[in-house]
Amino acid sequence: MQRWYKQRVFQIGVTLVIMGCNLLASAAERPNIVFIFSDDHAVRAVSAYGNSLVETPNIDRIAAGGVRFDRAYVGNAICGPSRATLLTGMHSHANGFYSNEWSGPFDGEQQTLSSLLQASGYQTAVIGKWHLYSDPVGFDHWDIIDNAFEQGTYYNPSFRSAAGVEEATGYVADLVTDKSIAWLEQAKNESRPFFLLYNHKTPHRDWMPGPQELRDWDEEVKFEEPDTLFRNLEGLTQARSEARMRIEDYITDNDIKLSMGRNLTPEQEALWRQAFAEGNRQYEEAELTAEEDLRWKYQRYVKSYAASIKSMDRQIGRLLDYLESNGLMDNTIVLYSSDQGFFLGENGWFDKRWMDEVSSQVPLLMEWKGHIKPGTTSDALVQNIDFAPTLLAAAGVKPTTPMHGVSLLPLFEPEPKPWHRDLYYHFYENPGFHGVARHYGVRTERYKLVYYYQNDEWELFDLVTDPADQVNLYGKPEYDAITKDLKQRLAKLRAQYQVPETDPEVPWYHGPAIRAVEQLMKWM
Ligand code: CA
Repeated sequence: MQRWYKQRVFQIGVTLVIMGCNLLASAAERPNIVFIFSDDHAVRAVSAYGNSLVETPNIDRIAAGGVRFDRAYVGNAICGPSRATLLTGMHSHANGFYSNEWSGPFDGEQQTLSSLLQASGYQTAVIGKWHLYSDPVGFDHWDIIDNAFEQGTYYNPSFRSAAGVEEATGYVADLVTDKSIAWLEQAKNESRPFFLLYNHKTPHRDWMPGPQELRDWDEEVKFEEPDTLFRNLEGLTQARSEARMRIEDYITDNDIKLSMGRNLTPEQEALWRQAFAEGNRQYEEAELTAEEDLRWKYQRYVKSYAASIKSMDRQIGRLLDYLESNGLMDNTIVLYSSDQGFFLGENGWFDKRWMDEVSSQVPLLMEWKGHIKPGTTSDALVQNIDFAPTLLAAAGVKPTTPMHGVSLLPLFEPEPKPWHRDLYYHFYENPGFHGVARHYGVRTERYKLVYYYQNDEWELFDLVTDPADQVNLYGKPEYDAITKDLKQRLAKLRAQYQVPETDPEVPWYHGPAIRAVEQLMKWM
């Protein structure tokens, strides 16, 4: 054999060995992903964001170890649609899941984060709340809380898996964590990376605290009231004055623990009575004015909400401890977010749905050792359409068809490029619970323009001078130029995302049925 030929063969051999090693190394380095996803958790109740209603020391661990996003939003602040966006990286109109109430089952056969990761060799699982009415697709393992509306119960919930429906005994956050750790226990021994969607039910309505928080319940503890608890909404847009969200009118006995918690064992009922019976007796005997009554209801509501978060945070701590004690944190991306925010007495309201800051903003914390500097913050405008593209980029997986969102990884570079972004929002669920009008809008660095198209009403907020969406500037002559610019930006986003001009049809009986159920809930 010629010498040059031998050398060439040798060089090719070396190159192939190096390429093989690189491939092996990159496969080995692909990060695990644990996405901790909760339900209705407002930024104001995460202590990593400061000035919180409740201490969340375990959720805060992710912020301390990574980045806290200070301007993360969802594109449609309602449970199922937000989850469909997490999976697809697409706004509601493109993934087909517009509404909890009439969208029908989520089409899991479309391109999703889970299917792409699974196809690229990841072990995949979803455990806990699902709320998309179809069996999860793209998950090797799924075990989701189950009942007619896929909300499940806080105590003794049923779980549905490929094997069928099974009743469990205990508190939902504890059970979801037990199941998640059990799955991780086998997944960590495989050579392939894993993706776990660890989905909490907490703190969704009706905010039932776990056993420890029932034991610790103190009726005397009082929370600060928001400035707008007694706000008069008359004279504002029709959308605002007609919404059925006022605590004083729409919160139920069940929500504020005037009735026995649902689905409890006798031991759990005893704990429940121990926590609430005396406070309930005092409330029923007191002759409160309307103002005092709202104050009392506000306290019971927000304290229950905070206590349920405490019960969840404790369990998140247990999962993080597991990851740490098994040496998994070095190569695992851990995220914390929620499917939307929540009104906690602002405007006198509870619930979500609006493009307002409190309901469309979400906590977003992300830890990834060696890639994200610990204890940092970002004020980049980001949205839940970005979750899937970010995690796929981290895993080195390219979507087959483009997603609406973009990867957030460039934000973690030492010298990140300027981040220019307008966010699109679209809420469809009307007729629906709480009577919130359909609306779409744009959020820019400084302003928010919202269009309530059923009523042909507009709102414009300057979020620098008015961070709580209180002062509608629309129609004021000094804002004409700004409004014109915002309308152009909104039209551009609608064209970019190809938003259809007409919304999907809603069954004719849907509106009356919702009103009837709301009345029934008030009487219960
Ligand atoms: Ca939710």
